[in-house]
Amino acid sequence: MTIAERLEHIRARIASAAATAGRDPASVRLVAVSKTRPAGDVLAAFQAGQIVFGENYVQELSTKAALVREPVEWHFIGHLQSNKVKQIAGVVTLVHSVDRLSLAEEIDRQWGRLGRRCDVLVQVNIAGEATKSGTTEEGALQLIRAISRLPHLRVRGVMTMPPFFDDPEAARPYFAELRRLSLLIAAENIPGVEMHELSMGMSGDFEVAIQEGATLVRVGTAIFGERQYPRQF
Ligand SMILES: *Cc1c(COP(=O)(O)O)cnc(C)c1O
Repeated sequence: MTIAERLEHIRARIASAAATAGRDPASVRLVAVSKTRPAGDVLAAFQAGQIVFGENYVQELSTKAALVREPVEWHFIGHLQSNKVKQIAGVVTLVHSVDRLSLAEEIDRQWGRLGRRCDVLVQVNIAGEATKSGTTEEGALQLIRAISRLPHLRVRGVMTMPPFFDDPEAARPYFAELRRLSLLIAAENIPGVEMHELSMGMSGDFEVAIQEGATLVRVGTAIFGERQYPRQF
């Protein structure tokens, strides 16, 4: 199958998962995770109507963003080191993976230099896995309160990456928990904080995530095929 055919298939599955949950399919945005795939694949997906692309390595994103001239939107979805923020400042429209105040402060500084604001999601490690990034569930509210005081950041919601399961149903409680947490934080009415986005669901479990309220699904292999190493841009 071509990238265009795979995209069409994913869009149909998103629409049907939304319909099952009684949701408007337009309330779910597809983030095409293009990591390890060449810029030509991004172009092919763009020509098939895909606008938003997700990357998780700064170097790879910078190189690819310079190669792709089309008006795509880049989201940063991976672990982000503060000393690399500068390289993606102004390039990405949403950072899904803010998990500590020091990182938020650096984003604030770098976007501030450009006189712009960066939309961010706070990544929450719902399962408390040692190998995964993300703030604890207990720490999320406090982190969001602190970020809300930074002038060049705007919190738009939360993101999570549950443990890997073969059975997508096993991920459902983690998605439901992120939604519950998001509603709790929204109820705090923190000035400047909007809890509209729930970034959850990947190739293996995006339908379950949509049923649990996902507004952003991050899908890589189901669109582009297996990842290609070494990374090519
Ligand atoms: C790689 C990645 C994805 C996409 O994973 P697939 O299983 O290929 O769909 C989603 N989110 C994050 C944070 C990733 O790093």
